[in-house]
Amino acid sequence: MAIIKINQKAYEYNLRQIAKKVGGFKRVICVFKDNAYGHGAKLLAPLARNLGISFVAVKSEEEARELKDFFENILILSHRPHGKENPNFIYALNDISQIKTYKQNTKIHLKIDTGMHRNGICVEDLECALGLIEYYKLKLTGLLTHFASADEMSASFFIQRENFQKAKELAKKYHSNLLFHSYNSAALFRAKLPDDEYCRVGLIQFGYGALNLKKVLSLYAYKLSQRTLKKGQSIGYGGVFTAKKDLEVASYDLGYSDGLFRYNGKGKLRLGNGKTMLGKMSMDSFSCENSGEELCVFDDANIWADFFNTIPYEILVKLHPSIQRVLV
Ligand SMILES: *Cc1c(COP(=O)(O)O)cnc(C)c1O
Repeated sequence: MAIIKINQKAYEYNLRQIAKKVGGFKRVICVFKDNAYGHGAKLLAPLARNLGISFVAVKSEEEARELKDFFENILILSHRPHGKENPNFIYALNDISQIKTYKQNTKIHLKIDTGMHRNGICVEDLECALGLIEYYKLKLTGLLTHFASADEMSASFFIQRENFQKAKELAKKYHSNLLFHSYNSAALFRAKLPDDEYCRVGLIQFGYGALNLKKVLSLYAYKLSQRTLKKGQSIGYGGVFTAKKDLEVASYDLGYSDGLFRYNGKGKLRLGNGKTMLGKMSMDSFSCENSGEELCVFDDANIWADFFNTIPYEILVKLHPSIQRVLV
């Protein structure tokens, strides 16, 4: 069975670097959504907690329940209110019309739409939202926003930051002790984190981006069979790869059912050992030159992201939860 190896030392190193950058573990919110970007939320949770992380963000209540024994504060980012919210969790409030649906006393972080126009309440509606939150007896404990293009050199980052500053000032008139957070991984590289803010870090935890971080995840597959592909013979569906000379090949136990993009046999898709995949990927296996019993498929998701014209987030998050994750 294919295995995902999680490098504990690399993860801890990354978290330490991040904490150094933002002013301590206490100011870090680790984004653990979607199984911690495919790395395995329950595997990483004790490591993060033992270093001093007490705050994480997840996608859903289901993900929050998985982590409730590890962290004091769990923020749920993509919740649709149903009136039975858990008083121990914190919910990101994404739309003003949903305030009335939340259960009384639910802890809320209000999402401000500072310019991304995806989720949240615009600054002009903030006072109205604060009034409704009070009327419906929700517990406002924080304000957040998200940047649309912190990773690009556009002015919108600064405009959004200014808008958030306005929202913070306004909210502070009505509430004390609010917690503020806006920066994601990319924003951390753009500017200094404001003194009164926490930082929500996703991808950089796992070694992607600057700061000289270390990649945490590597994907391994194991040999199913081997043979000599004779000169002129083809391999796999459609026979799109034909051997120009006799070649020792093997098939490995990982395919597109495991959450990988399906390689269609065109172009050079480089594996962790420098060899390339041969022929089309199957549902549960792929072939390449014989590389021994264990083969590193990748230890840097950028290689697959570049090949499939996407971002490393997508490569990592799609890795099927059923693949065993182990600490190494
Ligand atoms: C996913 C997410 C993050 C983390 O983003 P990275 O780019 O991985 O650091 C932060 N905030 C919100 C609201 C998110 O959805």
